[in-house]
Amino acid sequence: AAAVANGDKGFEVPKLEIKFTKLFINGRFVDAVSGKTFETRDPRTGEVTARIAEGDKADVDLAVKAAREAFDHGPWPRMSGFQRGRILHKFADLVEQHTEELAALDTVDAGKLFAMGKAIDIPGGANLLRYYAGAADKIHGETLKMARPCHGYTLKEPVGVVGHIVPWNYPTTMFFFKVSPALAAGCTMVVKPAEQTPLSALFYAHLAKEAGVPDGVLNVVPGFGPTAGAAISSHMDIDKVSFTGSTEVGRLVMEAAAKSNLKPVSLELGGKSPVIVFDDADLDMAVSLVHMATYTNKVDLSDYPAVPSEIMCTSTICSKFSSILHINSAILQGEICVAGSRIYVQEGIYDAFVKKASEMAKKSVVGDPFNPRVHQGPQIDKDQYEKVLKYIDIGTREGATLVTGGKPCGENGYYIEPTIFTNEEMSIAQEEIFGPVMALMKFKTVEEAIQKANSTRYGLAAGIVTKNIDIANTVSRSIRAGAIWINCYLGFDPDAPFGGYKMSGFGKDMGMDALEKYLHTKAVVTPLYNTPW
Ligand code: NAD
Repeated sequence: AAAVANGDKGFEVPKLEIKFTKLFINGRFVDAVSGKTFETRDPRTGEVTARIAEGDKADVDLAVKAAREAFDHGPWPRMSGFQRGRILHKFADLVEQHTEELAALDTVDAGKLFAMGKAIDIPGGANLLRYYAGAADKIHGETLKMARPCHGYTLKEPVGVVGHIVPWNYPTTMFFFKVSPALAAGCTMVVKPAEQTPLSALFYAHLAKEAGVPDGVLNVVPGFGPTAGAAISSHMDIDKVSFTGSTEVGRLVMEAAAKSNLKPVSLELGGKSPVIVFDDADLDMAVSLVHMATYTNKVDLSDYPAVPSEIMCTSTICSKFSSILHINSAILQGEICVAGSRIYVQEGIYDAFVKKASEMAKKSVVGDPFNPRVHQGPQIDKDQYEKVLKYIDIGTREGATLVTGGKPCGENGYYIEPTIFTNEEMSIAQEEIFGPVMALMKFKTVEEAIQKANSTRYGLAAGIVTKNIDIANTVSRSIRAGAIWINCYLGFDPDAPFGGYKMSGFGKDMGMDALEKYLHTKAVVTPLYNTPW
């Protein structure tokens, strides 16, 4: 079994004061109209961290009213992109100045490794703000080549009031995926963080105000999905909804949008991403990469002080510092939409791969995410913990071979051992588990690998491990998924658009594609007389 560091007391937990627990509407922290609050719990212990104002429809209405006023009459959409960019840079500075505190908030809220928050999530959020700050003054349309004697051009205009609904697994990253391009575009917005992880979003609202984002532009309404979330997706005065979460809830959001004001939606949904390892792969590198791909969310970066903070994601780091892959694996608790949880290994190296993968899983240290020795923290909450254990039970009952792990660990909190199953197609290799569970399967030919990789209703990401450029090129074009990572995994970058195919949704986060989704294109045409050409 994996080593458990629960009893280890040889590390410091930063002193943390929870400063913001109310809704942020029109530039002020306010109680919910109903006066209700809900608990947010620490997944390390299951204990209550704070009581948060519980927004519902009445609060969403107030937030939308403020956002509408700020959009229709306020300075934000009217100021130059250059000015908006300056404010976003200031916002990024403030995020960076509060890195420790913000990372600690995500650790007590989501169980994320503190070291990873400090090295990746928080600097990554600031980087996204800076990327879009640079884009804000480069938003423009085109001059058209009209068939008739007309002068035609397009204008790019902000879509208006945006509703962002986000999940709990990356509270900071998801917040900035949504908010940064929408702010750069000149939109105003209402953000609903996940009920499990409201703390950092409220802190970001405070920092945005301090940076100079005008009141009403960025509103944050924590609350539950069926009340606050549904009020956003069905709101008649919200012009667009951007959602990240499960495929099941994505469908509800789209339905509500269709039944209300036909607002456009973009959906970043679930995945069951394949990683294909070919016979010619460097075995140690492939095992480490797959390990990270499956279990990741919380990586221990303390071994890698040379990692530049501007690199946002673990696999980018791994591809740039490939020796890291041999030293240690970035193991986490699998709560990531792109978890590479279907691993197809070519038959020639399959047995050796299984052996090494299980050795690596056994070496992973599970425990308190503030402990720098720990590789894997707890699952987010009791529901998720029980769901993962249920899938492990199904795997065992269906006859999949349990190679390692499979049990809860630790005395309290929601810890689960990194788990590996082998066998041919099992249902756990089709369902999104969102936990530290890897399914290892064998294949013979390139065609078979492509067919198996595509045999899912999802299409979020895929990994390919090979030294053969022809195989890498062919397979990357044959897989129906929005992100392909060759000899790396989690190749996220602010300039790389990220989003799914098939039931993993549509619409992109990051890159210039994400900016587009917060812009309307308007065509303006006027006749030309006496044109010389
Ligand atoms: P979830 O779908 O349960 O919740 C996501 C958000 O939707 C939360 O804020 C929730 O309160 C809200 N919500 C719930 N019911 C709602 C309703 N009826 N109307 C409107 N909003 C509602 O997902 P989760 O459990 O928080 O997150 C895990 C899921 O998110 C996984 O499926 C994962 O793959 C997915 N995810 C996808 C990406 C991506 O980029 N594709 C990234 C991270 C997570």
